[in-house]
Amino acid sequence: MEDELKKLGADELKELQLWQKRMIIVFAITMVCLPVVVVTDLIIVFSRTEAWLVFLVLLALVVLSGFIQFSQRCPRYSYRLGFQSRLLVPDNCKRCDVGLK
Ligand SMILES: [Zn+2]
Repeated sequence: MEDELKKLGADELKELQLWQKRMIIVFAITMVCLPVVVVTDLIIVFSRTEAWLVFLVLLALVVLSGFIQFSQRCPRYSYRLGFQSRLLVPDNCKRCDVGLK
């Protein structure tokens, strides 16, 4: 019985993998945008308006990644997994110890 509680269903595991995929995609986009912005600014020098637009886009990416990070809860006891992980799904939930992979 206790072993059953420690296992997640295929759908729950699939959802966690999807969450990880979303985090990696937004992180990768942000990490590509940062050097592109710096290099572009060095080459064409942004006007004040362009710099603000670029800043807002980068800020939106950071907010989006934070939203995705903290959107996923442990399927067992609803503890937010974003507090336990940076980018990758942890092996086990630190709150209830259910296997997450
Ligand atoms: Zn848990």
